[in-house]
Amino acid sequence: MGMMKAIRKKVAGPGLELCEVEIPQIRGDQVLVKIEVAAICGTDLHIYNWDQWSANRIKPPVTAGHEFAGRIVKLGKDVTHLQEGMLVTAEGHFVCGQCYYCRTGQGHICDDVKILGVDVDGIFAKYAAIDAGNIWLLPEDSDPALGAIHDPLGNAVHAANVHCLTGQDVVITGCGPIGLYCIALAKQAGARRVFASDINGYRLGLAKQLGADFVVDAKETDIADLVKEVTGIGADILLEMSGSRQAFASGLGALRKGAGVSLLGIFSDVVNMDLDAVIFNQLTLYGINGRRMFDTWYEMEAALESGLNVKPVITHRFSFEEYEKAMELMNSGQCGKVLLIP
Ligand SMILES: [Zn+2]
Ligand SMILES: [Zn+2]
Repeated sequence: MGMMKAIRKKVAGPGLELCEVEIPQIRGDQVLVKIEVAAICGTDLHIYNWDQWSANRIKPPVTAGHEFAGRIVKLGKDVTHLQEGMLVTAEGHFVCGQCYYCRTGQGHICDDVKILGVDVDGIFAKYAAIDAGNIWLLPEDSDPALGAIHDPLGNAVHAANVHCLTGQDVVITGCGPIGLYCIALAKQAGARRVFASDINGYRLGLAKQLGADFVVDAKETDIADLVKEVTGIGADILLEMSGSRQAFASGLGALRKGAGVSLLGIFSDVVNMDLDAVIFNQLTLYGINGRRMFDTWYEMEAALESGLNVKPVITHRFSFEEYEKAMELMNSGQCGKVLLIP
């Protein structure tokens, strides 16, 4: 069917390679998408850096990448609800449909999930084969760059929307892209005050741009002290997006009794926490994994349609050829969301 460029993990070990591979064949229940914009996720950076998680999970060769917007160029023979030319993105978790979780409306925690760009060839390529049931239609006139960040934005929507943020004091620890989306979501929901912390000055600048009322450099100020000083009682909600033990501890310290917590940042080692503090303060902790299929997607569509502005989070664009530069920039932390353009 012809050849295309793809950014792949060819062998176990650090790095990725830009190579020529065959344009994928699609199954009857898939569509072929021409990728217009790809976005780099923390997951892709793990795969590039080849950390312990990647070494355990990735079976090379595989094309990386799962965040994209593109146009359908070919339909599998069984696909009747989509058309060629449609601007789309997709849920990157392919679920089994058979397990307990899939059958109880919790496909996002499926026991047999296959992840795009992790377990199956991803979208750092000119074309990608995507299961038709995972396709999400984007408005025809929308910016494909926004389409490409639906996956991580969905994580933020999932973490934010397990709480009612309206009128609440909200603490967000960690201002990577998902933390930044959370700031915008909290402001849109009508939070009373949004407190955001990070240790990276560049990202704190973005946090301000996204509308955080208080921006805290965690190297200098304990967010718990500031929140207690401003609110008198403590915050209502903590959205933990950093995966840092210190940040989590400070975030918990910032809460009033009866507060709600979303945990999305992934901790690299075991976190010891004082469960008595949870019990006596009557906290509610939610673990957040991926995006609910497809409840979260509809909520995200509604938020974007209502004017949610997350464009400032997108700070850099690179061509496929410059992928190493893009990955190194992400390793430096001096960026928001980084896009790759095929
Ligand atoms: Zn992602
Ligand atoms: Zn399942």
